[in-house]
Amino acid sequence: MRLIDADKAKAELLRIARDIHDCCGFYDGLKAGYQSAADRLDTMLVVEERKHGHWIEHSEHPIGDCSVCGERVPIYSGSKKYKICPYCGAKMDGKEGEEE
Ligand SMILES: [Zn+2]
Repeated sequence: MRLIDADKAKAELLRIARDIHDCCGFYDGLKAGYQSAADRLDTMLVVEERKHGHWIEHSEHPIGDCSVCGERVPIYSGSKKYKICPYCGAKMDGKEGEEE
């Protein structure tokens, strides 16, 4: 997947539509096509924003459970804790007891 900025994409499509000749037939269709595509961007599905969570640690082992998806994983890379859950992609910067 390649994420793009839908607002900028819409502005670009509308700019292209504006630059098309105000003429007839083919150009009218082309212009309408760009405008229609630009409007369609407003109704397309949005990728869910990344969730935030924290590691629920187990004192006896260097493992933890992701507070978002619940997967149990090794949470240390050397002496540093992983900042992203490898299963659900949640950023592990949330605070204890804090959802989302
Ligand atoms: Zn997770």
